[in-house]
Order: sequence, then structure tokens, then C-alpha cells
Amino acid sequence: MTSPGRKRVLSGITATGRLHIGNYIGAISMWAENQDQYENFLFVADLHALTIPEAVVGANLRARVEEIFALYVACGIDPEKSTLFVQSDVHQHAELGWLMTCATPVSWLERSTQFKTKGKIADVSAGVGAGLLCYPALQAADILLYDADYVPVGEDQQQHVEMSRDIAKRFNALFGSTFKIPDVLIRKSGSRIMGLDDPTAKMSKSLAERQAGHAVALLDPPDQARKAIMRAVTDSQPAVDFEAGLAPGVDNLLTILECLTGTTRGQSQGHFDGARYGVLKAAVADVVVGRLSDIQDRYREITGDRAQLAKLLAHGAERARAVAAGTLARAYHACGLRS
Ligand code: ATP
Ligand code: MG
Repeated sequence: MTSPGRKRVLSGITATGRLHIGNYIGAISMWAENQDQYENFLFVADLHALTIPEAVVGANLRARVEEIFALYVACGIDPEKSTLFVQSDVHQHAELGWLMTCATPVSWLERSTQFKTKGKIADVSAGVGAGLLCYPALQAADILLYDADYVPVGEDQQQHVEMSRDIAKRFNALFGSTFKIPDVLIRKSGSRIMGLDDPTAKMSKSLAERQAGHAVALLDPPDQARKAIMRAVTDSQPAVDFEAGLAPGVDNLLTILECLTGTTRGQSQGHFDGARYGVLKAAVADVVVGRLSDIQDRYREITGDRAQLAKLLAHGAERARAVAAGTLARAYHACGLRS
């Protein structure tokens, strides 16, 4: 479904852990909102899941990947309007990834915040894989293969998209103009949802695996989701006080509510100024549980028809390969691997 008039968007989520409301608010909901305006290429980044091999359960990985793929659809991404695929189903990602690795200075990779923070996780610090260092080069390949104009992500990924731009420019300088330079697209509010158990840490799939009550996963049972929100860390004040300033945990709850209901901070102030924290939390829990219930109903429908799901996976991969093959050929030609 290529349409020359529309700008192209590329984005994806790594197949580590379970998708949570931060991924939904910061990334997936934005893809869904933009799907009529842009030509979307959206993928499940399964090769990136191997960057911390200690965290991979081989027997589960493909099932986890398909769960995320089905969740994209359940969250409202239309697989006809958007090209939805799994990264490893499109072999051009790994191939262009190697070219990008060769074009990327090690010093750039060493500056990556994710490398610095994830490399310190206790159980991997003894032998961090080179993939954790090099994955921004693969990420550059992911983006550049589709000549993307925009990459919609949460705030934590901004540094990597900037690195993708730099890698593309470096390749272009070395081998002649080959890649389009993409721009990052970040939502004004909700691009950094914080952990419910610790509002100073970004809500993340990997932290949620270790810390109960850190996140609300999109497939959590409603009572578990409600409990996590009701227990969210706020501060020692009893009630919301806009004048005195909001504790980070309160600000986070309001942001979640506003993003899911499309309301403004001004409207929140009208509703919740002076409200006890329990009242705010119950309101947030109602909205979150309502949204999860819609997503989960649709998810059950999609995963209930395995044959149809397999068709969607194959169809998306075929559409993605058609575009990726052209870009890879261009890159092979530019650096002299093909005449
Ligand atoms: P991990 O712990 O495995 O890194 P993650 O939750 O950080 O998991 P990613 O796969 O790194 O998720 O990111 C997927 C997408 O979701 C990216 O666009 C990222 O910017 C966005 N995202 C991740 N966490 C949040 C968050 N807390 N708030 C808003 N957006 C987020
Ligand atoms: Mg992350």
C-alpha cells in the first residue's frame, strides 16, 4: 500500500518482557493516531531481544514476539493501513545492520545511555555481549531500510534516533548519498511514563520483570492493574495540591490519565485540585482498566484465530521485504559490494 504523497514512519518495540502502558502511551497509541496520515512501517524488534542473551528464554521468544505483534493490532493498528512485521522475518535488517556497524565509530556507541545503564545490570556485567554495544547500528539499519521520514518514539529513544541520523550521514559521506535522514517524533506529554513503584525511574519492560508493582502490562488482569495503581508511590501529603507543586508520582498519574482520555492539565486541575490521592488513583485505575479491557477483548479475538495471525505475519513481512530489498541493494551498490 505505498502512496507517494504520504510521509513514511518507522518504529518498533523490542521483544523483551511484556508491553506496558508506557509503551502504549509513548509509542503505540501515537502510531495508531497517525496511521491515516502516514505510511507506517511498524515492527517487533526480535533481533534486539538477543542483546542481553541471559534474559532470553529460547522456548518462549517466538511466542512473545507474536504476542507483541497481536497486541499492535489489538491496540488499533490496522494491518492493511500499516505494514506490520517481525524484524527477523526480513533478513535485510541483519545485512544492512552489518554495513551500519562498520560505518559507526565505537566512541559513539560507548556514549549510549542504554549501554551504560543496561551493561551494569548485575547478572550481565561479567560478560556484556558485543550486541549491547552495537545495537544502535542495527537500529539505524531498521530505520534507514524504509527511507523513513519520521520515527515516533518515547523520550528514552531520542538519543538512538539521533545516532541513526549521524550514522546515516557518515555512510552518506563515505559512500555517496544513499540514505534519507529521518526526524524523531515525540509526543508533547506522555513520552516518559514513570514507574508506579518509583516515579524517578522510567517505566520499563525489563524493570517490570524484576519489580512487582512497577508497571501495568497491557495484558495484566484488571484487578492486578487496579492494585498496582492504587499502590502507586505518591508522597506523604494527603491530597492533590497544584499550588504547592505536584510530587513526581502524582504528576505521573495525572499524565497517564490525561493521555488516555485526551484531556489537558488545566482540566485535571479543575477536577482534582484538593482531591485525596485515593480519589485520583481510583479515577486513573478506572480509565486504565477500561482501556485494557478493550485491548484485551480484541487481543483474544486475534490470537484465537491462529491461521489468520500467521497470514498477517506473512503478509506484513512480504510487504516490508519489498521495500527493504530496494534500499539494501542501493547500499550494497554504494559501498561497492555490487557493481
Ligand atoms: P526495555 O526495558 O526492554 O528497554 P522499554 O519499556 O524501555 O523496555 P523499549 O522496547 O525500549 O521499551 O521501547 C519501546 C517504545 O516504547 C519506544 O518508542 C520507547 O521510547 C517507548 N517507551 C518505553 N518506555 C516508555 C515510557 N516509560 N514512557 C513512554 N514511552 C516509553
Ligand atoms: Mg527501553
